[in-house]
Amino acid sequence: MQRYYFDHNATTPVSPEVLEAMMPLMTDVYGNASSIHHFGQRARQALDQARRNVATLLGAIPEEIVFTSGGTEADNLALFGIARDGHAITTTVEHPAVLSAASQLGSVTLVPVDGRGVVDPEAILKAIRKDTRLISVMHANNELGVIQPVEEIAKIARDAGVAFHSDGVQAAGKVPVNVPKLGAQLYSISGHKFYGPKGVGALYVKKGMALRALVYGGHQERDRRAGTENVAGAVGLGRAAQWIVEYGSDERTRVEGLRDRLEQGILDRVPDSYVNGAGAKRVPNTSNVRFDGIDTEPLLIALDLKGFAVSSGSACSSGAAEPSHVLKAIGLTAEQARSSLRFSLGRSNTVEQVDALIDAVVESVARLRKLAPVYVSSITRRTSQTRHAEVSDAESMPSAPGAVR
Ligand code: PLP
Repeated sequence: MQRYYFDHNATTPVSPEVLEAMMPLMTDVYGNASSIHHFGQRARQALDQARRNVATLLGAIPEEIVFTSGGTEADNLALFGIARDGHAITTTVEHPAVLSAASQLGSVTLVPVDGRGVVDPEAILKAIRKDTRLISVMHANNELGVIQPVEEIAKIARDAGVAFHSDGVQAAGKVPVNVPKLGAQLYSISGHKFYGPKGVGALYVKKGMALRALVYGGHQERDRRAGTENVAGAVGLGRAAQWIVEYGSDERTRVEGLRDRLEQGILDRVPDSYVNGAGAKRVPNTSNVRFDGIDTEPLLIALDLKGFAVSSGSACSSGAAEPSHVLKAIGLTAEQARSSLRFSLGRSNTVEQVDALIDAVVESVARLRKLAPVYVSSITRRTSQTRHAEVSDAESMPSAPGAVR
């Protein structure tokens, strides 16, 4: 059976050019980048080039890049490195890598978002206290793809003299990123979200910014992250970044076309389906759709059986019984949150795959709704009401704020 991958926000495959770039580091170039002999120096050169490539992707200078073990560590390094004992401000829709880390700080204020998933910069301003050390607001949300007004928030932070971190794990590779222009002093990225390897990421730390380390040991990464460098991983991340710089723009346009085709196809053919986060600026590859009257778990399985890999939320929370905190934060009821699916597109997807996925969704949703004892389509409800026919006592399911089709 052919299998099609529509879960690129969970992770992406390592691209051929990334693998090719990494291979020598797994074989011949095995020196420790801190060693002064030839073997070490070859590794050091590769690491330096990787740092330059990542810096170019972010509009940064190489010494502003700290390699980490991924997005989670980059987020933790930013939060603990700046605000370990102080007050931090973040939002209710952050990834657990920020939310859980923030809960371990001295104190934290969680700012809510609107029905589209967008945070109001004014609300961030109001949350600033005398002891606020850090504001952390994600650039793009992993579940909805919604882009936050980070430039405005960065300005507010700058005016208040507070450090600003943005989790860019779901933005880098999907939208152009120029961190100095965004105004963030700290910015996290992760290799496996844009065709690099898993287990490597980076934190951009603006030059001159004092940052306390999270991991202590040797003097690697200018004392900001101890431990022998993962040179192969860094080279993979660097090559992935280089690809984005060269070809990212065309690919973004292509993927956006596919995402829009998928969304329109579903909305046109599946009654009572709504795009969560619609109306907000979004990354081009993500679509989070609510299908009233069904549970996503069986829908996800039905699609998997037809060969389509999609997600019921972030990879970390799918499989958990709790409905997504992001969908609850935009005002969905637990039931509505449990009837939402995330489609995240990427390089391997084609028009044919998208059309086949639409057919599969239409068929699966219709079949599951037939099996659902309480589901009565809002269209049927409206028609039967006009006819004064007896209407079933099915629970009414109003659309949530922001859940515009
Ligand atoms: N931040 C966001 C927004 C994410 O989507 C993820 C991963 O899903 C992370 C952080 C964590 O990154 P990593 O998997 O590299 O630890």
